[in-house]
Amino acid sequence: MQPLIDNARAFGRRPEEFARLAEGQSPDVLFITCSDSRVVPALITGARPGELFELRTAGNIVPPYAPGRPSGEAATVEYAVEVLGVRDVVVCGHSHCGAVGALVRGEDLDAVPAVRDWLAHATPRPAGTAEDPAVAEGVQNHVLTQLLRLRSYPCVAGGLADGRLGLHAWYYEVHTGTVLAHRPHTDTFTAL
Ligand code: ZN
Repeated sequence: MQPLIDNARAFGRRPEEFARLAEGQSPDVLFITCSDSRVVPALITGARPGELFELRTAGNIVPPYAPGRPSGEAATVEYAVEVLGVRDVVVCGHSHCGAVGALVRGEDLDAVPAVRDWLAHATPRPAGTAEDPAVAEGVQNHVLTQLLRLRSYPCVAGGLADGRLGLHAWYYEVHTGTVLAHRPHTDTFTAL
């Protein structure tokens, strides 16, 4: 932890560069990805502070929209779309994802019941090759399912209907840094 603290101390010594951030934020993109430490959205995209609004969840799962049941995920999506007016939403899965791998392999998660119950939101269970350590196929299928789920959020459905919102499915390889994007016309993931 100490190196992180040292860096945080040094980081605070450049107030000029960040002073304008006090005026507010107007990010163009909501970036939804996994909590995995190997996925660093700002590093992948080159985004500067203020450019990416982020939602990170275990396995980049977008839970079902459930009116009357508050969730941080729904609040984050709604705020991004309705208040910040983001133009695009990216759901970015990644290779070697522990959450998706557990689903694909049908692992017993009873020892981590909170994880088990959260991953139960990932229905249908992503199809993929259990032997593939990268779980590429499983993650790509899973990302598309989350994109479909997002469409059921009223704010997203409204944005799509108005043509003011675009949805994107990405797959990031943690071991190469390569980003693949889903191409709807061919239903395949190819390099950006
Ligand atoms: Zn993951």
